[in-house]
Amino acid sequence: MSKTVVLLSGGLDSTTTLAIAKSQKFDCYALSFDYGQKQRSELVSAQIIKQGLSLGVDYSQTISCYQANKKGVACGECDACVLRQNGFTQAGVVDPTKYQ
Ligand SMILES: [Zn+2]
Repeated sequence: MSKTVVLLSGGLDSTTTLAIAKSQKFDCYALSFDYGQKQRSELVSAQIIKQGLSLGVDYSQTISCYQANKKGVACGECDACVLRQNGFTQAGVVDPTKYQ
């Protein structure tokens, strides 16, 4: 089994990347740190969401918010939350994220 390192922010992109690596039978090592990531676009997010769902990703366990509260609940108003919400809408699926 090949080994790989996945940078994991807990958001859509990295969680889906981890699911893809696991689906391709990589032995995954997740590494997390704050690197000031910005979301790309709603269409890209929608494509990522569709691919992740096809791999069984549970997006209720991810967060994209830049200003989540101390319990880790997304604000629903920042740029990342809006992009995320619009990504789910573009993908045609219900956003499972819990917002404040
Ligand atoms: Zn937010």
